[in-house]
Amino acid sequence: MTFREKSAALHSVRSANGSTGSSSAASKKPVWEYAPSPEAKDHIEIKPQYDLFINGKWQKAKKYFATVNPATEEKISEAALASKDDVNRAVLSAERAYNKVWSKTPPKERAKYIFRIARIMQEKAREFAVIETMDGGKPIKESKSVDVPLALAHFFYYAGWADKLKYAFPNSAFSPVGVVGQIIPWNFPLLMAAWKIAPALACGNTVVIKSAETTPLTLYKLAEVIQEAGLPEGVVNIISGAGETGAAIVNHPKIQKIAFTGSTEVGKLIMRSVAGTDKKLTLELGGKAANIIFEDAPIDQAVEGIVNGIYFNQGHVCCAGSRLFVQESVKNLVVKKLKHRLRSLRVGDPLDKNTDVGAINSKMQLNKITELVNSGIEEGCSIYQPECELPKRGYFFKPTFFTNVAQSNRIAQEEIFGPVLSVLTFRTPREAIEKANNTQYGLSAGIWTDKGSKIFKMVGAIKAGVVWSNTYNKFNPASPFGGYKESGFGREGGLQGLKEYLKF
Ligand code: NAP
Ligand code: MG
Repeated sequence: MTFREKSAALHSVRSANGSTGSSSAASKKPVWEYAPSPEAKDHIEIKPQYDLFINGKWQKAKKYFATVNPATEEKISEAALASKDDVNRAVLSAERAYNKVWSKTPPKERAKYIFRIARIMQEKAREFAVIETMDGGKPIKESKSVDVPLALAHFFYYAGWADKLKYAFPNSAFSPVGVVGQIIPWNFPLLMAAWKIAPALACGNTVVIKSAETTPLTLYKLAEVIQEAGLPEGVVNIISGAGETGAAIVNHPKIQKIAFTGSTEVGKLIMRSVAGTDKKLTLELGGKAANIIFEDAPIDQAVEGIVNGIYFNQGHVCCAGSRLFVQESVKNLVVKKLKHRLRSLRVGDPLDKNTDVGAINSKMQLNKITELVNSGIEEGCSIYQPECELPKRGYFFKPTFFTNVAQSNRIAQEEIFGPVLSVLTFRTPREAIEKANNTQYGLSAGIWTDKGSKIFKMVGAIKAGVVWSNTYNKFNPASPFGGYKESGFGREGGLQGLKEYLKF
């Protein structure tokens, strides 16, 4: 509890007891508001327009598009819309850099460049965090404590492996893949870029990477860092654009591997496009994770895990714990505590350090969430939303959960990618397993119980790439991440993540 929270709680108790103030003041329920605590913006630099970063230089595009701050709906900057020709230029630059420089650069030199990128990013950590929050809508406390430090950690981690690949994969002959094309979504722009660029460079590949349309800025900041680090020209090319730009990367004949993170729908299109070619492919797609609470779980901690699982980053998280399975005997208790906890979540200005739930990334995503929530109401599920005022401008959605949900309801089957939870129940571990696996996805899951044996049984039976026990949404660069079923294939992070960028 912060000092302000403590004193607010204290005042609130006093007034309620009537021990201070007049009797009329005592009879009124006091409302304690947080004073605004905005993060400073004077230390950041955003250019009015960003060109494409190709061959180590800023290159003009024919068209540009606006990127807005979803919390204010104001335009922040413009980013280049890369055409098919621009993609071709970027790929040829990456090919040249691969043949002439990077494939001949000794591994320990590669490591130095990656370390340098990480260190410069670290110096600019606050700037990265503020820009990530402005461009994407996530709370500043999350960009500061999750996105940026984890992105850095991936660069540091893979820098360490660059000259130790033969120990990572002993008794095997391998070589880099060559030119890799990488396409990322808008929910963790800088972090997804780090997940992809760092292992690619460590293994000796060169890169063409495209940011998502609504969040191009931190990748261009990363381009500035790459320039400052003196990485040879063309080793990393950073471009922005729309779906067609992504498709041009996927279809370019000189790309030897595609690493894609995004929706299952686009993942399927990409898989069709690369079928019949010898391009390597990794797909990190959608999810509909089960977060399972047993009656013997530490309930208060589990409730924190539910909140972290679904309301972190407004639920724009592929591994979000969006289906809550509670053992029937503790359902009422969990729902009561969850309601209580939701009432304390602060929704609003993402740049405010006290904000827990920020802005929805775009108008389009807000419409998608609203449509799915309406389907839940129409299908007869019971909705709960705390009373809280949303800002007048910007794209916001109240943290929400549904009870009386059937497994067949759309809100229990489709990925909402917003702050919306479906609460379901179970009686036995077997029933929990069957229900958890009753989905087209298989990215992640959570298990909350006091019993180690139950954890082991559940982990073995749940078809998901990551299963957290008595915690949720924990990431580490040394630990692999990826999906089963329609959540995709291939792994990012750890040694498994390195392997995807090598030919054996
Ligand atoms: P998306 O629509 O699939 O877009 C992802 C990226 O692909 C964007 O850069 C997008 O460009 C580009 N793209 C769109 N159409 C394309 C095409 N035909 N060919 C090639 N590229 C194309 O997904 P999103 O809405 O940005 O992101 C949300 C999804 O990502 C969710 O389903 C979420 O679960 C998933 N995700 C998965 C993981 C994971 O690790 N498994 C992590 C994060 C997110 P534009 O932005 O210009 O459309
Ligand atoms: Mg934006």
